[in-house]
Order: sequence, then C-alpha cells, then structure tokens
Amino acid sequence: MKSARANAFKATGRKSPGQRTCLKPFACASLIAAMTHRSFCWTCRQPGSACYCGDLRPFDPKIEFVILIHKLESRRRIATGRMSHLCLKGSHLIEGDQFDENKQVNALLDRDDVFPVVLYPGTGSIDLSLGSKQELASQFLSDRKLMIFVIDGTWATARRTMRLSRRLAGLKRVCFSPSKVSQFKVRKQPAAHCLSTLEAIHQMIELVGPTQGFDPLEKKQDALVDVFSKMVERQLAFVPEAHKAQNYFVASSENALK
Ligand SMILES: [Zn+2]
Repeated sequence: MKSARANAFKATGRKSPGQRTCLKPFACASLIAAMTHRSFCWTCRQPGSACYCGDLRPFDPKIEFVILIHKLESRRRIATGRMSHLCLKGSHLIEGDQFDENKQVNALLDRDDVFPVVLYPGTGSIDLSLGSKQELASQFLSDRKLMIFVIDGTWATARRTMRLSRRLAGLKRVCFSPSKVSQFKVRKQPAAHCLSTLEAIHQMIELVGPTQGFDPLEKKQDALVDVFSKMVERQLAFVPEAHKAQNYFVASSENALK
C-alpha cells in the first residue's frame, strides 16, 4: 500500500518526493496545511480560526475598483486590499509592483467603457474633497463607469510602482482629505492621516459614490469597515496590553488630521 505522503505527492503532480519541480504550488500549500492538520481558507488567505468570509457582505459600489497589491502586502497577516476586493462586487485584485507588461491591467486600461483614475496623493493630484458636488462630478466622464486604481502597499512600494508603471502614472491622479483617522490598530501607521487601503476605499466610495449612482446613505459601504473592525478586534484579542500601548497606533487628539 502506498503511504499517504506518496499519494499526496501524486496529487501535487510530483512523481516522487525526490522530484524537485512542482507544477501545482497551490496543491502543495494545501498539502502542507493538510499534513500539519491546520485548516486554511484560500479565499481570505487566513487560518481557519481567523477566516472572515462569514462576515463578508459583498455590495456593488457602482465604481470599478482595481486593487494593485504588492506581493509583500499580499503576504501580510491582514491584507486589507484583499479584504476590500472580497467586499466589492466587480473589483479586481492584481498582484505585482510594475504593470506596464501586465496583460490584465492593460486590458482594463484599453476598455473604452470606463474612465480610469489612480488614487495617489501628491503633486498633481486632485483633492476630491475640495469644491462643490458639481465640481466633483465634472472630474469624471458621465457616460463612462468610473474605474479607480488603488495601489496597495507601503508609500515606498507605491512610489516604485508609479515610477515603473508608465501607463498607470499617466492616469488622472485623485486623492481626498481623510475625514477620519485610521482604526487599523494592529498595524502602526506612518502618520495619523494615513489610512489602510480598505479605509481609503470606504472614504472614496462615500465621497465619489453619489456621482456614480451610489447612495452612501444606504450604508452598504459600511460592509467594508464592519468586516475590517471584526478582524481588528479578533487580532487585538491576541495582542498583550503592553504592546498595544507601545507599538500600535491608537487614535488620539494628537493625531489630528493634517
Ligand atoms: Zn475565509
């Protein structure tokens, strides 16, 4: 009788444990989870005990979000870009750090039924929080669906992505003035006005949604922050009190918006 390990290697496409090339990395990872008796959710990429799929309430924001997730971000314990993607119907999650050669990104940018912009603050970026509702609506073409590219990574990786992705860098740049401080207490933010990707998307929907036929007063967008808050609470339950005070960002009066 063949051993379970031999059968498992057969399932991954490897003829024997000694053969190095594996054609099915996902099967291998599943195999590792099975062999170590740990369950793992491949949708939210969390261990079974931390799976948040049951808390997801996907909704249509009437905006097509494209979340460009850096591979380092993708491997983080809590990747809010992936969490956002699972909440937003019609969204895209694409991993990488330079996208000029990315077929999926190029196919999206080649579409003539969308108006693509990139959420990226800094020089040359239009602050959508300023001005009237009419001025806000005038920033986009009314006969095309708004497509917002969101770079999910650190400031350094986002800058690199923009430098190496000419098509992306050539898009209209938009930003907003945050109306709330980050509640991402399990990760230290570089500054009080810095938000997680999920929080930035939530605020963008509240700000721009009305120009695209989305009514924020129905509060469907809060499905984002609800699943996020539950995840943060679960994670904080495992953090010692001393570490919460020393190492984690906690909103306070000192963290006034800039
Ligand atoms: Zn899950």
